[in-house]
Amino acid sequence: MEDVKKRLEDLKNLIRKHEYLYYVEANPEISDREFDRLLEELQAIESANPDWVTPDSPTQRVGDSVTSFLTVRHRVPMMSIENSYSTGDIHEWLERCEKLLGQSPFPVVAELKIDGVSGTFNYRDGSLQSGATRGNGQEGDLITSNVKTIRSLPLLIDSRYDMDIRGEIYTPRTVLEKLNQTRIENGEEPFKNCRNLTAGTIKSLDPSVAASRGLQVMVYGIAQAQELGFKRHSEALTFLQKQGFRLNKAWKVCQNHSEIFEFIDSIAGKRHEFDFDIDGIVIKVDQLLQQQELGNTAKAPRWAVAYKYPQERAISRLLTVEWQIGRSQLTPVAGLEPVELGGTTVSRASLHNLDQIKEKDIRIGDRVVVEKAGYIIPYIVEALPAERTGNEQVIEPPAICPVCQQTISIGKGEDEDTATVVKCENPLCQGVISRRIIHFITQMEIENFGPQLVDRLLETGIVKAVEDVLHLDAATLSKVERMGDKSAAKIAANIAAAKTKPLFRLISALGINNVGIVVSEKIAASCQQSFAAFLSADTDFLVQIEGIKDRVAQAIISFRENQLHQKLIEELKLWWQGPSPEELASQKAGDSLAGKSFVVTGEAEVPRRKLEELIKSHGGLVKSSVSPKTDYLLIGSMEGENFVSSKKTKALQHSIPIIDEHELCRILGVEFETIKNQG
Ligand SMILES: [Zn+2]
Repeated sequence: MEDVKKRLEDLKNLIRKHEYLYYVEANPEISDREFDRLLEELQAIESANPDWVTPDSPTQRVGDSVTSFLTVRHRVPMMSIENSYSTGDIHEWLERCEKLLGQSPFPVVAELKIDGVSGTFNYRDGSLQSGATRGNGQEGDLITSNVKTIRSLPLLIDSRYDMDIRGEIYTPRTVLEKLNQTRIENGEEPFKNCRNLTAGTIKSLDPSVAASRGLQVMVYGIAQAQELGFKRHSEALTFLQKQGFRLNKAWKVCQNHSEIFEFIDSIAGKRHEFDFDIDGIVIKVDQLLQQQELGNTAKAPRWAVAYKYPQERAISRLLTVEWQIGRSQLTPVAGLEPVELGGTTVSRASLHNLDQIKEKDIRIGDRVVVEKAGYIIPYIVEALPAERTGNEQVIEPPAICPVCQQTISIGKGEDEDTATVVKCENPLCQGVISRRIIHFITQMEIENFGPQLVDRLLETGIVKAVEDVLHLDAATLSKVERMGDKSAAKIAANIAAAKTKPLFRLISALGINNVGIVVSEKIAASCQQSFAAFLSADTDFLVQIEGIKDRVAQAIISFRENQLHQKLIEELKLWWQGPSPEELASQKAGDSLAGKSFVVTGEAEVPRRKLEELIKSHGGLVKSSVSPKTDYLLIGSMEGENFVSSKKTKALQHSIPIIDEHELCRILGVEFETIKNQG
């Protein structure tokens, strides 16, 4: 009994740790399946010993709120759908429903299960009012400003229904691959998969971060479908499609069992062709009356089930371990015997860190299980010790730095939860300096300044530290081998332009551990966009900022106090000329229509010129003719219902939303009167 109780406590701690990595850090160490297994084990122990259930058990809650977004209560709870890992489970589910409904077979809708972050989007009077995350199912974070940056989500629709549309927010694979390429070049930990990147992005307080990362939404239902008069789920999907929402086109009404399993099989073969990760198929009862009849359990609807595809794993041999130098530590990367996995040949995999290697007892020469499951960077799940020959070697951290050959330090952070860090502490190590410079350049968005140029500047001695980058001019840059005058001028101009980037970029560019974009935004906001305030912020001030722990506050303070960083900080004080809070607010208002194209026609209550200026001043484009790519046709309100024009016909043909000047003002959140009275 004592053993079981101990296991219970261990499980709780383990789950808490992985929950933190998953929900807070967006950087999980184990797969969903491994996580599900831990939770299941805990649930089993608790249900056998109900007295042991405590309110703080991970089974009693889902996720903590971790951002400073407002919390909203969902009008209709967002339940999660029960997962099943075998087709046998699906058969059982179908039989159970058939029995309860007294109908066999009954129609279902099969849809792709996109591996993103669930969201809900409220539309009223034809326009997008708000967007929120699923959160714990009852309450979520209000992320309207980020949701609005998602281009596949219409700002306006024809329908006037007051409805909550449900969908999955995700990041396309191509975006993840590009971002990860840069991160790896920077020696930073790449995002594990599209979902983690999405989760991190929607938590960003600055909508421009969300916009720049090309978030997408595919919608999959209406919370109030039945109240609005829909009879079938498929009818609601067709309605959403017609309203201009992006849906996954692969959804299908299946009339019988064999159609369902054919659908599951046909998608399994195509998984890698999509530009988004899917982890399974969702099957929902089509008739809404039947859904109602089946009802819900405390946690999940009985009328839906998710089939999860098996994760992609392969067995290979670990040949080498390379310690890659990064900004703050060296990370182990496995070299593998090439193996086919998830549609690509894999020859490298992540080993996470020294603790993971020790815990899993992975050795060089071992046969190892490699997993990909939507992970762009495959990782080693476990070694197969039964297949050892005795010639395997224990993996040791390197004794010297692969770049500067100085002794390596290995240490644990003061916090027990942090992983062991393998580090080159030579302040003059070119490997570390190079990574820090590349990090600075990427965070400050200085374009055309790649890692190769950084290395050439370091080799020639033109640059010795991060601060030397600030003052590079065209003349100096053109001294670099193979550098044309034009490129040199362009790069110099880009460096100069970076001076006016917002404060959160500058803070994040310093490269302090655990201080990325999202944390930096919060700090910058708390410091009223003042670099001086950031430099003098003490621990008490920092830990008051939501999401900042003692450990992070300590890292910030010791970075600032470190002698090695004094010159950089002094120079940045003079160099940076970023926007004040007021400037930042007006910049944000300025691009709410970024990328949206408008065509303006007909007579409005204000001159057309004014409307065009208004659109352009908010980042929108004004075009002269309607094409399928047009986002809105604006027809002046002085024209009646019977207004005839070829533009209107075309807009109707392509389901392009038609608005008038009043609706434009509503989208922009400006008073029509102020526009009218402006000169
Ligand atoms: Zn070194």
